[in-house]
Amino acid sequence: MLININGDLIMETLYEYDRLLEELLNSDKLKYCYECGTCTGCCPITEMSNGIYKPRNVLLKISLDLKSVIKEKEIWLCASCHKCYRLCPQGIKTPDILIKLRDLSVELGYIDGFIEALDIIKKDIPLPAVALFIGFDPLFGTTDRTKIAEIFKKFIEDYKEGISLVNREDITSDKHVAIIGSGPAGLTAAKYLIKKGYPVTIFESMSEVGGMLRKGIPFFRLPKDIVDIEAEYVKKMGVEIKTNSTITNLDDLKERYDAIFLAIGAQKSKHLGIPGEDLDGVITAIDFLNKANTNDIDIQDKKVVIVGGGNVAMDVARSALRLGAKLVNACCIEDNETMPAYKKEIQAAMIEGTEIKTTLLPTKIFGDNGRVTAIEFIKIILEKSEDTGDIRIIPVKDSEQRLDADIVVLAIGSATDLSFLPAEIIGRNVIDANPLTTETRLPGIFAGGDAIFGPATATEAMLTGKRAAFSIDKYLKGLKDLI
Ligand SMILES: Cc1cc2nc3c(=O)[nH]c(=O)nc-3n(C[C@H](O)[C@H](O)[C@H](O)COP(=O)(O)OP(=O)(O)OC[C@H]3O[C@@H](n4cnc5c(N)ncnc54)[C@H](O)[C@@H]3O)c2cc1C
Repeated sequence: MLININGDLIMETLYEYDRLLEELLNSDKLKYCYECGTCTGCCPITEMSNGIYKPRNVLLKISLDLKSVIKEKEIWLCASCHKCYRLCPQGIKTPDILIKLRDLSVELGYIDGFIEALDIIKKDIPLPAVALFIGFDPLFGTTDRTKIAEIFKKFIEDYKEGISLVNREDITSDKHVAIIGSGPAGLTAAKYLIKKGYPVTIFESMSEVGGMLRKGIPFFRLPKDIVDIEAEYVKKMGVEIKTNSTITNLDDLKERYDAIFLAIGAQKSKHLGIPGEDLDGVITAIDFLNKANTNDIDIQDKKVVIVGGGNVAMDVARSALRLGAKLVNACCIEDNETMPAYKKEIQAAMIEGTEIKTTLLPTKIFGDNGRVTAIEFIKIILEKSEDTGDIRIIPVKDSEQRLDADIVVLAIGSATDLSFLPAEIIGRNVIDANPLTTETRLPGIFAGGDAIFGPATATEAMLTGKRAAFSIDKYLKGLKDLI
């Protein structure tokens, strides 16, 4: 397919481009795009880059001139948050399309576009080093990874050097802002608020900064020294960070601070409600990943069964294999088509040795001497109602099967702990806030990130952090209209 001239790889014939375009048009459904613009309207990167990246425009360029677009920076500016895909009325897989183009771009040696994109990421994305690892995925190119990795390393070195030169921001306001939570939403809001001259204090339950960036996302996708770099930046700007500080009610904070931003994430893991869940060796995905990230779990030669078929389940599987697990099964109720994990995550988990088992409903966990030994599932059929589109789960008679397990990991979702919040701002399992302004019903109290969306992405959390800073600034200046 590719030939090499003067060290550069080039595409052999125009026919190859046609073939790729054909593939994108069909399997990724590009041909169904009717240019409604929803993808651009909802894209966090479009808003954060002030319109430099617009998925709608990229899709159009792909259809018209694929050969040129693979050289351009736009294909590198999608953060793979999949919001466009979730909202696209036609189900167009824009992030998958762009990943394919990145692979091709790297294969062909067109990496200038990536270098140009880095300038925008550095300038416009609030936590650029983190975003680079988990969003912009520079190592997704299939062939010439070393070339990309070098550019990437240099970016991190320059960014670190820049932080060493950062000075404390001038505090020009006497209005104090409290932020609860130091995940991407909280850190972003802190950065923008202190730049505007407000004294900012972050309260964080954990002993270290970063939220899910630190305890959820696996070490091999986001090295924890990258989270340290971002935390260092925020501290050097003058933000006060109080770790090991759990806020249990807002009354005291309301007395002491002029505005509060709730960036508390979705940290509470869900449980199955089946017998045996309290056995030793049954652990939630977040606890498992946190322990894996701090090297605090021994799973060498162990059999691991993961319950769940989302991205978090795939991260658990890949972490377990890296830590020496003998056998890793990920079992979910969905079928291959409806599994919620992204295709690239499923593929990566399978290539690394995960066995994926679909249409299985967990019924019981077995143990011996208080420790888990196996988990039982029953085969199910998923039946879609013609009228409502709802999926009905029908257990198949006598189809019980047991999988031996030394560790069972529950990766079935998480929710926000709303127990300490006033009733006026509690919605359905999330904090009820206007996503555009982050205002809640209570004056001076704002909320963003996973706490208002449910588990989403760091990119969306950063956007709400930025929006919160602008809204809080307007609120503290006495402006009524926050949009
Ligand atoms: C395994 C996994 C993999 C992921 N992979 C990706 C990815 O590849 N790309 C991507 O974009 N996103 C990814 N995400 C999602 C992303 O991490 C989250 O969407 C994002 O971290 C949410 O940010 P947040 O600031 O809203 O909340 P969080 O990051 O959850 O931070 C909330 C913080 O608030 C603190 N807190 C909570 N309550 C209190 C309290 N009462 N007092 C004091 N502190 C409190 C918590 O300790 C926590 O530190 C992943 C998530 C997980 C779990």
